[in-house]
Amino acid sequence: MAIDDLQKAEQENGLLSVLDIGKNSLISIHSLCRQIARVCDKYLKQMDDRVAQERQKSKSEKRDTMLSPTGGKTVRMDSKGSGKFGALRGHRFHYGLDWLCTPGQNLVAPFAGKVLRILYPYENDKHYKGIEILQAHLITRINYIEPCVTAGQRVKKGEVIGTAQDVSIKYGKDMNSHTHQEVYVNPEVLILEDNL
Ligand SMILES: [Zn+2]
Repeated sequence: MAIDDLQKAEQENGLLSVLDIGKNSLISIHSLCRQIARVCDKYLKQMDDRVAQERQKSKSEKRDTMLSPTGGKTVRMDSKGSGKFGALRGHRFHYGLDWLCTPGQNLVAPFAGKVLRILYPYENDKHYKGIEILQAHLITRINYIEPCVTAGQRVKKGEVIGTAQDVSIKYGKDMNSHTHQEVYVNPEVLILEDNL
């Protein structure tokens, strides 16, 4: 049988008719194909799971996450008041969060970004300093920090940006040592496109 005839027969009748195989061979090939299909099916399922896991992972990696500047999660609570966000301060509210820390300890960038500026939280007191870092739609300010970075510098998430200052110099020993953090969000990102 010429190759052209083989191709023609294959196109018209399918591969098995061309091979002209006997019953036993057919059963063997069928069994082999079944085994291959089972193995493929098994690995396909495993791969499906892995692909789903990887998709979930990259989704959560994309989500905005932030470190605390101290590396800890404890918020100040002492006889001078609460360091929680929104805590009452006489007629005002506390628009930040006070993270407990030890004077002199390293403070880190909560997220990657550009150092916007080094600032003085109190107009008439040049001892205390603050840092503002910008990332896309977010700005975070960290007060009571002796910076080791300068304005315009790019920082990585978790990179040391300075050391904690001692708040007891201003507020006395009754106030636990802490760093004050604020976060500002560009309101535009919180508004749905349809509402613009
Ligand atoms: Zn505070």
